[in-house]
Amino acid sequence: MLPTASPLILFTDLDGCLLNKHDYDWSPAAATLQTLRDRRIPVIMNSSKTVPEMSRLAGQLGLADYPFVSENGSVICWGGETGQPLGDVEIIGASRDHILEVLRSLKPQYRFRSFADLGLAGVAAETQLPEDSARMALSRQGTEPLLWDDGDEQRTKFEQALRDHQLTLTRGGRFWHVAGQTSKGRAMQIVAQRLSPSDPSSQRTGPPILAAIGDSPIDQSMLDLADVPIGIPTPSGLGVHVAAGRGIVATAQGAAGWAEAVSQLLTRLERDASPPSQSPLH
Ligand SMILES: [Mg+2]
Repeated sequence: MLPTASPLILFTDLDGCLLNKHDYDWSPAAATLQTLRDRRIPVIMNSSKTVPEMSRLAGQLGLADYPFVSENGSVICWGGETGQPLGDVEIIGASRDHILEVLRSLKPQYRFRSFADLGLAGVAAETQLPEDSARMALSRQGTEPLLWDDGDEQRTKFEQALRDHQLTLTRGGRFWHVAGQTSKGRAMQIVAQRLSPSDPSSQRTGPPILAAIGDSPIDQSMLDLADVPIGIPTPSGLGVHVAAGRGIVATAQGAAGWAEAVSQLLTRLERDASPPSQSPLH
């Protein structure tokens, strides 16, 4: 993969950001995505979705030439689907095989049903996804969702047992997610480093600026490590902390808010890049 010549790399969550929460529409962001494409600014998706789910979206969104981050920072897919061969998949934290092995060892002591226990029909029923979507959701490499059927006290013990295996447990709606020690922010740093020019002569203008867009607490690690954190509001208000001054908070939700915030970011970068002597307002 070639380093980018772009002064900016944009990392973005999908649901509730580039994609509307309920209808998954992204048409309000289409023109802005085209602007980014024209300027060759890399847009890196960073989501809880799986590699097959995101590969399909990458094609639809015109982002197939860029790497993306799946399963909440657990998997980096280095290649795109269109125009170049499918790249390597890198697992950060723990592999799903390892997670399933640990879950099997804990099974006698705790009551839970993971995706592997549910199988395709069970996942389709519990998530209300059509079978082909359920199959893509099951195609995981670094995380395992589960339904907790035991008490809270048991869950605290379960969490400790997972920690002993360097695994984490995070709540995401109905499902709990078991993962290795990673985060969206950590995966963002790995991708950014790989995309940044290592040639000192190309670094005269400094490394690319990292902007990260998110709407929920799982995105916070990414926002905290970005030069420009961007928050998209949810129906119940802003779900992330955005550093005042360097950050941007959209007023609209979903794809419309995404487009609004990215336009604001591009305007800010153009303003900062133009020499003061050429500014008519100076
Ligand atoms: Mg989201």
